[in-house]
Amino acid sequence: MLESTSYPESWYTATRNLDINYPALEEEITTDVCIIGAGFSGLATALFLAEQGTNVVLIEAEKIGWGASGRNGGQIVFGYGQNTSELLSKTISIEAGERAWQLGLDCNTILKDVIHRYEIDCDLSWGYLRLAMTSRQERHLHTMMETWNKREMPGKTTFIENRVLPNYIGSSSYNAGVYSDFDGHLHPLNLALGEAKVLNDLGVRIFEDTMALNIEDATQSKKARITTPHGIVNADTLVLCGNAYLDKAEPRIRWGLIPGYSCMIATESLSDETAHRLIPQNTAVSDMRTVLDYYRLSRDKRMLWGGLGHWSGNDTPNPGPHLYARMLKIFPELEGAKIDYTWSGRIGISSNLNPQIGRLAPSTYYAQAYSGHGVASCHLSGKMISDAILVGSEDFEMFSKLLPIKVPPIKLVQQVARAWGMNSRRMMEWF
Ligand SMILES: Cc1cc2nc3c(=O)[nH]c(=O)nc-3n(C[C@H](O)[C@H](O)[C@H](O)COP(=O)(O)OP(=O)(O)OC[C@H]3O[C@@H](n4cnc5c(N)ncnc54)[C@H](O)[C@@H]3O)c2cc1C
Repeated sequence: MLESTSYPESWYTATRNLDINYPALEEEITTDVCIIGAGFSGLATALFLAEQGTNVVLIEAEKIGWGASGRNGGQIVFGYGQNTSELLSKTISIEAGERAWQLGLDCNTILKDVIHRYEIDCDLSWGYLRLAMTSRQERHLHTMMETWNKREMPGKTTFIENRVLPNYIGSSSYNAGVYSDFDGHLHPLNLALGEAKVLNDLGVRIFEDTMALNIEDATQSKKARITTPHGIVNADTLVLCGNAYLDKAEPRIRWGLIPGYSCMIATESLSDETAHRLIPQNTAVSDMRTVLDYYRLSRDKRMLWGGLGHWSGNDTPNPGPHLYARMLKIFPELEGAKIDYTWSGRIGISSNLNPQIGRLAPSTYYAQAYSGHGVASCHLSGKMISDAILVGSEDFEMFSKLLPIKVPPIKLVQQVARAWGMNSRRMMEWF
C-alpha cells in the first residue's frame, strides 16, 4: 500500500497503483488547449484532443483525480443524466431524445474502449444490480425494463423476482431487482492515474499543485490567459473541468451548480464466504431511492458503502456512523465489522439532474454537475468537447441546450435549494 500526504485518506488512496508526481507550473507557457481540472472530465477531454495531435496543457490545483473522480463509488452507470432522453424529446425533438439515449449508452462504450485500448489496470468488472424496496419502486423497475427492451438495451438484462433475489443479494430488505451486465464497477483513482499516465505518454503537459487563480477568455486578438500561483498559461482554447471544486475561479458557471457531498466507508476485508453470500455475483448495487445506498465489494473483499452523510447534503466531519447504520440495516450480519476508511467528496448537482456542458465564450468550454454520476458520463463529455473544439459537434450543441434553473451561488440559498429538491423528491417516493 502506498502512503499519501496529499490525497484524502481513502481505500482508493491506500491501494493506488501509480505514484507519479507531476510538477507544478513555474513559468509562462503557450499551448493550443488548456484544461483546468484533472478529474474524469478534464482527463477525457485531454485524451481525445491529444489523440488527434492537439497540444494540450492540463492543470490541477491538487493531484490527479483528487476531486470526486478519485473518491467515488466506482459505479459505472450508463446514461448521460437523469431522464435525459425524455427531457430532450420534450424540449427539442423526438430525434434529439433518441440521440440522447444512444449517447447515454456511448458513455459506457467510450469508457470501456479507453480502458481496454490503453490497458489501464483499474479492477474493471461488469455487472450491476438495481434494487426495489417498495412496490412502487418495483413498478419503476418494470417500466425501466420495458423501456430497455423497447430500445434494445445491449448486454444481458434480467428482471429478478423476489424468490430468486438470494442469487444476487444476501439481504431481505428488497422486493425485486434488475440485473444488467452493461454497467459495472472499477477503482476510480487507478483509472484517473492510468489515464494521466497515458496523457503524459502522448505528450500532454500535466501540472499538479497548480491552481487557476484567474481566467481570461481568448478574444479575436489575444489568447486565453490562465494565471496560476507561479506561472501563466496562454491558450487558444480553454476548457473548465473544475466541477464542484472550481469555486471562485470562475463565477460565471457557479450559478448552475449546487454543491453537495457524498460519503463512503470501507470495511475491513470480509471472508470469501461472507463476501460471496452478500453480493454473490460481485455486482455494483444501488437502490431506487433519491437518497440512495450504493455499494459493492472491493477486490480485497471489503464492503465499499456509499450514501449521503447528512440529511441536509452538507459535508459532515464524521459520516461513518450513519453509513455504518445504513449498512447494518441492509446486512445485519456485518455487525462488528471494522471500518478501516471513511471519506467524502464534493459533487456538483444540477436542478434538472443532468450534466451541464457548454461555452462561456467562443473558445471557453465547460463541463460540470453530473448530479451523482459521472464515472462514465464524464468520458462522453470529454469526447463531445474535443469534437466541438476540433471539428464541431452536434451532440455538444444539443446537450448545451439542456439548461438548468440557475441558483445564486450563495451558500444559504444553495442549501435551501438542495434540501428542497432532495426532500420533495423523497416525499414523492411515498406516492
Ligand atoms: C463519494 C462520491 C461517490 C460517488 N459515486 C459515484 C459513482 O459510484 N458513480 C458515478 O458515476 N459517479 C459517482 N460520483 C460522482 C462522480 O465522481 C463525479 O461526477 C465525477 O467524478 C466528476 O468528475 P469531474 O472531472 O467533472 O470533477 P472532479 O473529479 O471533481 O474534478 C475536478 C478537479 O478540478 C480541480 N480544480 C478545481 N478548481 C481548480 C482550479 N481553479 N485550478 C485547477 N484545478 C482545479 C479539482 O482539484 C479537482 O481535482 C461520486 C462522487 C462522490 C464524491
